[in-house]
Amino acid sequence: MQAPTFLMAAGPHEKKMTDKDFLQQVAAIVGPNNILTDPAEMAPYLQDWRGRYTGSASCVVRPGNTEEVSGVLVLCIANDHPVVPQAGNTGLCGGAIASKSGDSVVINVSRMNGIREIDAVNGTMTVDAGCILQHVRDAADRQNLLFPMLLGSVGSCEVGGLVSTNAGGTGVLRYGNMRELVLGLEVVLPDGRIWNGLRALRKDNTGYDLKQLFIGAEGTLGIVTAAVLKLFPRVSASVSAMVALDSVSDAITLLQELRARLGNRVEAFEIMSAPQLAIVLKHMTQLRNPIAGNAPYYALIEIADSHSQQDLVMALEDVLGTALERGTIADATIAPDLAKATAIWDLRHNISESNKREGFTVSNDTSVPISRQSDFVARVHEKAKAAFPEAHVCFCGHIGDGNIHAIIVFPRSLYNSPEEFEAAASRANTIVHDASVALGGSISAEHGIGQMHLHRLPRYAAPVELDLMRTIKRALDPKWLMNPGKVITPD
Ligand SMILES: Cc1cc2nc3c(=O)[nH]c(=O)nc-3n(C[C@H](O)[C@H](O)[C@H](O)COP(=O)(O)OP(=O)(O)OC[C@H]3O[C@@H](n4cnc5c(N)ncnc54)[C@H](O)[C@@H]3O)c2cc1C
Repeated sequence: MQAPTFLMAAGPHEKKMTDKDFLQQVAAIVGPNNILTDPAEMAPYLQDWRGRYTGSASCVVRPGNTEEVSGVLVLCIANDHPVVPQAGNTGLCGGAIASKSGDSVVINVSRMNGIREIDAVNGTMTVDAGCILQHVRDAADRQNLLFPMLLGSVGSCEVGGLVSTNAGGTGVLRYGNMRELVLGLEVVLPDGRIWNGLRALRKDNTGYDLKQLFIGAEGTLGIVTAAVLKLFPRVSASVSAMVALDSVSDAITLLQELRARLGNRVEAFEIMSAPQLAIVLKHMTQLRNPIAGNAPYYALIEIADSHSQQDLVMALEDVLGTALERGTIADATIAPDLAKATAIWDLRHNISESNKREGFTVSNDTSVPISRQSDFVARVHEKAKAAFPEAHVCFCGHIGDGNIHAIIVFPRSLYNSPEEFEAAASRANTIVHDASVALGGSISAEHGIGQMHLHRLPRYAAPVELDLMRTIKRALDPKWLMNPGKVITPD
């Protein structure tokens, strides 16, 4: 599909408009209520969730449909305005935040929040990019189906952001990350053309798989306006448990045992170190540790299936009973009903908020092969504690995917300026990234590169990888105006 021709009026070689004319033309496309220029109104769109990145912009635009996105994009590129795509603004590496240059245009897709189609027989849902994840899950649920993506920001993050960060979350173990949950995409390219790749096919080998280019591209190659998502049968029974463990390697042994005996009924398997749990309990006073005593690590487990609830509880009790006898786990509590399960999972889902309240957080999102996580945690703990004795060194997250987040929480009193904190954050990141890459791992498992790791990628990626990424970027965005300063530098 081509962009409507009237929108192509400002060609790349034509004289640039004045700022006033530019803003007027944008307003003519999206309507005057959907372009913000007042600093106070723009502020929430120019700062990230953690308050770590703040930018400035010429305007924030909230288009209502794909054609409007196309029209605005054409104007921006013709007039050399950097474009920052934004959805729910819950990203954790500054990808949706404009630079401080002041000439950026933030294109926020949140108004585009319709569900275009649910095909229950095909097991697919076609949604606009501004749909909030919770609404997608609710819509699937009403059809007795499941969209399995689940993360702490479920009530705010949107499909455009989930696609563009290739988000993970707690369901990756069984269902995969966004790359595996997206069947098709609609994307507005930097030249304004609309690529309608909304195919709802599980098998499609017609040349390059173009959607994968845009998944995880963090808005640097185009603007995602809609997606076809894969749905699954809704599981009717689910049981959760929390177990106390002496070590990370015991957690991995338990995971192997669970998978060997319960197959892909293992829906989630997450870890929390004792210092991390202590921070959650300190700030979320309504939550409790259901296990008495102190253990160095805790694993949170969910088993789900369409068998009876009782069968599932018995199956989990059986595996955990054996693990207790063998000494793999120190203690366990099973949550057979939804209320008790929610109480356990609330501990996990409140980690980010609790850490934010505790201090300055340096959250790392590395992954290593599952078999090397014990080594990874030991190396990071030793080096980070030596470098930052006053900080909490915490571990939590998706151990079943090799993606343990090493989180260093600094007391706020420690640093007098953002610059001092950023310098400490950079040292902390280097400790964690070096340990990960030395063990065959990645510096970003699910949050992306954004602006946070822009200058770190060249340290860890092979020159040929960087060269391929720049070649793709230039082919689609020759003026390098799509979300510049994110993911990859021009040289
Ligand atoms: C409490 C909490 C818990 C979290 N837990 C997890 C977790 O477990 N796993 C995980 O993976 N992430 C997690 N996150 C991070 C975040 O929620 C995800 O990265 C999410 O995918 C971001 O979605 P968003 O709609 O907020 O995107 P935004 O923050 O708005 O944008 C993220 C990136 O995508 C780009 N983008 C946004 N919309 C578009 C579009 N329409 N087209 C092109 N590019 C676009 C932006 O430019 C930016 O680079 C968590 C965040 C919070 C606050």
